[in-house]
Amino acid sequence: MILHKPLKPLDEALAQLMDYAVALPELEVVSTFDADGRVLAQDIVSTLQVPPQDNSSMDGYAVRCADLLQGPQVLPVTQRIAAGTAGVALAPFSAARIFTGAPVPDGADAVVMQEDCEALAGELVRINVTAQAGQWIRRAGEDISAGSVVLAKGARLSPAALGLAASVGMASLTVVRRPRVALFSTGDELVMPGDVAVQQMKPGSIYNSNRFFLRALLQRLGCEVSDLGIVPDRLEATVQALERAAHDHDLILTSGGVSVGEEDHIKPAVQSLGTLDLWHLAIKPGKPFAYGRVQQAHFIGLPGNPVSSFVTFLLLVRPFLLQLQGAGQVAVKAINMPAHFVLPKADKRREFMRARRNAQGGLDLFANQSSGVLTSAVWADGLVDNPPGRTIAYGDMVRFIPLLEMLG
Ligand code: AMP
Ligand code: MG
Repeated sequence: MILHKPLKPLDEALAQLMDYAVALPELEVVSTFDADGRVLAQDIVSTLQVPPQDNSSMDGYAVRCADLLQGPQVLPVTQRIAAGTAGVALAPFSAARIFTGAPVPDGADAVVMQEDCEALAGELVRINVTAQAGQWIRRAGEDISAGSVVLAKGARLSPAALGLAASVGMASLTVVRRPRVALFSTGDELVMPGDVAVQQMKPGSIYNSNRFFLRALLQRLGCEVSDLGIVPDRLEATVQALERAAHDHDLILTSGGVSVGEEDHIKPAVQSLGTLDLWHLAIKPGKPFAYGRVQQAHFIGLPGNPVSSFVTFLLLVRPFLLQLQGAGQVAVKAINMPAHFVLPKADKRREFMRARRNAQGGLDLFANQSSGVLTSAVWADGLVDNPPGRTIAYGDMVRFIPLLEMLG
């Protein structure tokens, strides 16, 4: 009798994996220009307020509202304040020509936009409207108050965050160092585009596609990648590759060879050098998945089927790598959307189906959901996360995870 190991729920696998993902202790200081995608290792506390002083949000005239209570007024223009300069206190019954971003002078309590004014000869202006106190003025500190935490430790830096850090004077930022990842593909059938031309492909050969998207995904997640290429389906070769990969890397990531067939050497190879857990995940695509350790390095073995590899990377390796970098927030934001497709036959595993948002605000499903069809992952802009055993009728609300949530 063959005893099948029970399938492991994704959440259980993820929780276990996250327990292993202890943040790297080494920090580095990088230029704010180069910090996109990195994880902050310290709170950024602003020592100044932003904007530093009240300033105009319009081109126009700074005035005192009280001077305009009687309706349109002709006032002398006593000063000109451009962005980057500072004016002087505004005397009663006068106006200051002012431009966007320029500090509002003491005494002025409103800006009237130039469209509501008429410049007259002799340095005069007719203000054609009344004004509300505070209009067209950006208040000092309305973005950031002095002493506030503008970016917290553990934040993953986005382009906007770099701008925010710069706005409080940070030219460099302390971040967790990049994880060093050794990547290799297993499979005697694999050849490299560029090495073997299409016409020269032997029967049974396929191009190595996983290597390309895995390297790109790792780089997007801030990793330094050592690409060790393709390892043949032999135990000794696999052991050698792992030994080499363990040296000086935080994570060894492989694709393929992780099942328990005769040509799958990852399991015995890792076990001969360290420890390995082989999980049969209760998800589709992506059943076999391995976590282990080789010396000080983490080991993660992804399935060989391209879509399984892609999906398990996004669901498991991505949060793992972010936590290694000290990221505080690793969960993705899913949204509920109506299915514009049907799923009459449920799977007993939790399914991650390649889907795409349509112009009607619903989701279309890629027709072929096979784990070998990488076209589906290119066509899709997200994954429908469907619980085990659930059929879907047209219009049912389903959980959708945008790919963009996970690719950056
Ligand atoms: P394996 O997990 O090694 O049994 O591989 C499962 C399936 O994925 C087989 O059809 C392999 O040919 C295919 N496969 C494995 N690795 C790759 C790869 N790097 N690129 C494309 N297909 C792969
Ligand atoms: Mg294989």
